[in-house]
Amino acid sequence: MTSTTTARTAVITGAASERGIGMTVADRYARDGWAIAILDLDGDRAAQVAAEIGERHGVPAFGTAANVADEASVTAAHAAVQAEVDAGRLPAVGALANIAGITSPVPFLETDLALWNKVMAVNATGTYLVTKAFLPAMLDAGWGRIVNMSSVSAQRGGGVFGKVPYSAAKAAILGFTKALAREIADSGVTVNSVTPGAVDTNIRVGSTPESEAKLAADIPIGRVASTEEIAAVFAFLSSDDAAYLQGTNIDINGASHLH
Ligand code: NAD
Repeated sequence: MTSTTTARTAVITGAASERGIGMTVADRYARDGWAIAILDLDGDRAAQVAAEIGERHGVPAFGTAANVADEASVTAAHAAVQAEVDAGRLPAVGALANIAGITSPVPFLETDLALWNKVMAVNATGTYLVTKAFLPAMLDAGWGRIVNMSSVSAQRGGGVFGKVPYSAAKAAILGFTKALAREIADSGVTVNSVTPGAVDTNIRVGSTPESEAKLAADIPIGRVASTEEIAAVFAFLSSDDAAYLQGTNIDINGASHLH
């Protein structure tokens, strides 16, 4: 159990997709006693997933639409969450898990600016916009946990599925995390990142059982990670116990770096 001692809300972006990491992270927060707020593209789906998780674990839950790459959309989603807090239906926001992301397997010379911009916008700009929206209240409270989803692709130049735009966007998140952590190091709000290797989700659109088997065989541990294994790291980084982890990154890649 890595729960916080005070009732708080964890905001999770990208938590509405079936079999996705975000949904499992939201479930883990709720299991640990956090209230949850899910932000994802489809507001109805976000609300439905949040309600199911909230009911399963007996915690307050809210879901709303947000395109994390769009400032007006993020502003509206933040206002919707804040309205729930102000109405007493959610406790104050204590954690933010920036998980919304897209990948792309397109080789470099076949990419175009639109693809580059889209992958950068959802992964990197999204992390910027959502953090900017939710950070001020955490700073005011003197306590907060921000956990940003990067990828082993940022460190190894892809090698899993996503290629140049994805690796660049996920690397941007590592720099963002460290620089923000440095700036607010003694505020009580921590900012850390996570770099998973391949995880068992539907994100690798177009992958085949054969390509997935090859992916697993290339990982020293011999399999891809479960979403629960990634969620456990988010839970720890969001706990009271993790107060001294600031601007750090946790690798969770089945020994890929030893390969
Ligand atoms: P997924 O496709 O199942 O989930 C991505 C989620 O992000 C979905 O719920 C989707 O609706 C949401 N999303 C996409 N664009 C959005 C936008 N503009 N605004 C708001 N929400 C948006 O993928 P996943 O495998 O669960 O990946 C989750 C995160 O983990 C991503 O950031 C991904 O890059 C990262 N990651 C995944 C793996 C892996 O192997 N699956 C490995 C390392 C990192």
